[in-house]
Amino acid sequence: MAYYHELLKLCAFDETEIVSQKERIERTFQILELGPADMEKAVARIQKYFDTRLMGVRKAIGVWFKELFDLILCRYEGKKIIYYGYPPFQYIGLAIKAAAKSKNDFYVGCPEAIVSQTLGQFFHKLVPVLEAGEGAGLPPGHAMCSLLQVKVGALEKGIIPIPDLSIATSYFCDMGPKADELMQYKYGYPVEYIDSCLDSPWGLWPEYDHETVRYLGAQLDKLFCTLKNMFGIEINDYVWQQGRLIAGRLYKAINKLTRYLTADPVPLGVADSELILNFPIGCTGSVMDEGAEAIEILADEIGKRVQKGIGVVSKGSPRVLIVLQSISDPAVNRLIEDVGLAVPTTMALLPPPPEPESYPFSTLGEKRAEKAMFGGAYHSTYGMVKRIEASLKYAHVDGIIYNYPFSCRPFVCSNKLTKLHIEKETGLPTLLLDMDPQDERNYSQGSMRTRLEAFAEMLKQEKLRHKKSDIKSL
Ligand code: SF4
Repeated sequence: MAYYHELLKLCAFDETEIVSQKERIERTFQILELGPADMEKAVARIQKYFDTRLMGVRKAIGVWFKELFDLILCRYEGKKIIYYGYPPFQYIGLAIKAAAKSKNDFYVGCPEAIVSQTLGQFFHKLVPVLEAGEGAGLPPGHAMCSLLQVKVGALEKGIIPIPDLSIATSYFCDMGPKADELMQYKYGYPVEYIDSCLDSPWGLWPEYDHETVRYLGAQLDKLFCTLKNMFGIEINDYVWQQGRLIAGRLYKAINKLTRYLTADPVPLGVADSELILNFPIGCTGSVMDEGAEAIEILADEIGKRVQKGIGVVSKGSPRVLIVLQSISDPAVNRLIEDVGLAVPTTMALLPPPPEPESYPFSTLGEKRAEKAMFGGAYHSTYGMVKRIEASLKYAHVDGIIYNYPFSCRPFVCSNKLTKLHIEKETGLPTLLLDMDPQDERNYSQGSMRTRLEAFAEMLKQEKLRHKKSDIKSL
């Protein structure tokens, strides 16, 4: 039996897939230098940290492996390769797929998310990639973004192919495009920079400066021209909607699942719900059909848990909104429930607040840029803070854990303002918890646990106090 057979069976691959995909599987693992011992380690980690009693969880992990195979092999398989930065600009990856004659002509995705998710979560082998990134221009000890270190490291080690084009995230973050500039210089591929201005005045959102929209819109229109010139694909309103439709089944499944997650007791753990976080953000391939199917199965399984009152922490436990999960370390994701806190939602899963009426902008780029303003995060710190506040009405929580990547500019700039604003406007206690979603060397689990335990204890006491005052007033 093949050395990866047990692992892939655990991840819900069927026998025929394992046999028919033999060459691809072995080539991928060879490039990643993963052997029999790594497979054993991955089996043990998946069984320890994920709820493998749930077929939906096992299938979701399997889909991550399929996305990994597609990424690693896309150059050998003759595809045009386009990487986008993290987070992507709305449906850009899917719009490219929709515009192509055949969606198999292109590989489009965010490689650093896929590598972190798989080499980190399942194999616990991300540190060598981070070290390669540090050695290739993003040195340690300078608070460089570890997500970008993963991308540089993976290119440097030859794990991921050099793309035909990369789309940089200057609409959200300045470190992404600076790192892209480094990679453009080192590896010689073209980069399309989508610049914007996040300096809107405090208090403006959901209003916005029309010039900001026109500027970002022109940047997007420039990208559409590049795509046409380089690949002959045309992105227009119709294609954009087609791209959106590709993700329709996936989003429908995610929405169904997230409704169940708000039950008391919360029926699914943070490590397991993390598996779906980067499906729509990081990938445009197998996740759109097989990933959607995995989440549909998971939603049905979780619906049954809700009916039976089964939860991952006890009913009535304090409920918290968390901002992020680790995308490489499931042990950290388990910590929050270990201290007795329930997580019914994360910032990524919160539905957006209703949008104001649109202004009649003319180009596709401008129309998409305006939508980005309403989303908040690409508008300003104030937009991001208000977006979290407005969405809180969809999630009944007792507190917020603003767990932010300590080296991520947008999150670091907004953390204290978010805490001050949310505590003042909603009265919800907010814990600022610095972490690193990709680099386990940048935190100590012990000290994170201590801070989480103290926060959990405070929320439990607060709930008890309210309960007692409710009884007195009867
Ligand atoms: S600094 Fe933050 S926003 Fe920028 S690429 Fe890194 S994780 Fe993404």
